[in-house]
This record gives sequence, C-alpha cells and structure tokens, in this order.
Amino acid sequence: MQRSSIVTGLVAILVLLGLGYAGWRFVAERSGEVCRACARPVHAHMRTVAILDGRRETYCCPACALSEHQQSGQPVEVVELTDYLTNGPLKPGSSFIVRNSDMNPCLQHHHPEVSENSQPLESHFDRCSPSVLAFQDQKSAAAFAGEHGGQVTKFSYFAAEFQR
Ligand SMILES: [Zn+2]
Repeated sequence: MQRSSIVTGLVAILVLLGLGYAGWRFVAERSGEVCRACARPVHAHMRTVAILDGRRETYCCPACALSEHQQSGQPVEVVELTDYLTNGPLKPGSSFIVRNSDMNPCLQHHHPEVSENSQPLESHFDRCSPSVLAFQDQKSAAAFAGEHGGQVTKFSYFAAEFQR
C-alpha cells in the first residue's frame, strides 16, 4: 500500500513535468522564434525556412538564409518562403522577390535610421540589407516594386548568386 502511493506520486510528478514541458515548448515556438543566422526576431511576413547541414532552420529573411552558405561554407537549401502580402507559405521554386525596396522590416525594427551613405561599407555590413521580400508571382512583386521601389527577380536566380 505504501509502495503504490509512492508510485502514484511519481507518476503524477512525471505527468506534471510533461505538461509543463509541452506548454513551454508551445509558448517558445509561438513567440520566441529568432533567426538562426542573425538572432533577430523572425517577422511573420518574411519567415524563411532552409535546410542547413540536414537540419530545418528558420531565418528572418531569404538573404539571411542564403548568406549562411557564405558564412558557414555548408550548403543551404531554402525550402519555404513567406508571401510578404498574405503571410502564406510559398514554394521557393516559383516565387519572385523584390530586392532593395524601401521596406525593410528587419532594419526598421532595430535601426530606425537607414544608412546615410548609398555606398555599402564593410563595417556596416548587414545580412538583411538590402531587404529581400518574397511574393507568390511576378505580378504582385512588380506591383509592390511600383510602389516601394526595388528590383523584381525570380527567387531561383537570386539564390544562385549565393551558391558560388
Ligand atoms: Zn536573420
């Protein structure tokens, strides 16, 4: 009788620990997502998922994910982009991007002033600048660039530039 109450107590403790861990995981995954490369918070409309060294990693923007190849020397494959307008997931193979528009959520969040100098300096290197925003098709990308500036490119062309 003594023994069974100890076992019951242990089981109860384990169940409570399990619930606590599950709850913590849930909260951490919903709110605490940070870019693997630059540790900035991941913005929902620029979330990028890539496979790095066989692991699925989350990045704050496509430029950050792709620059991981240059930083680490390991192959990076972007497997999911996010549509800037709808926050919906996109297949990289068919997506378009707008590069260097006047919208850069990464920088707005952390540095209110945009660089005063148009010539990029090595010491001011920022992976997330110029900004790279993803769109589901060329039409929506071109419409966005018409309002905010920047160049429209197929994502696959953009990604190829990083794989050298
Ligand atoms: Zn980042």
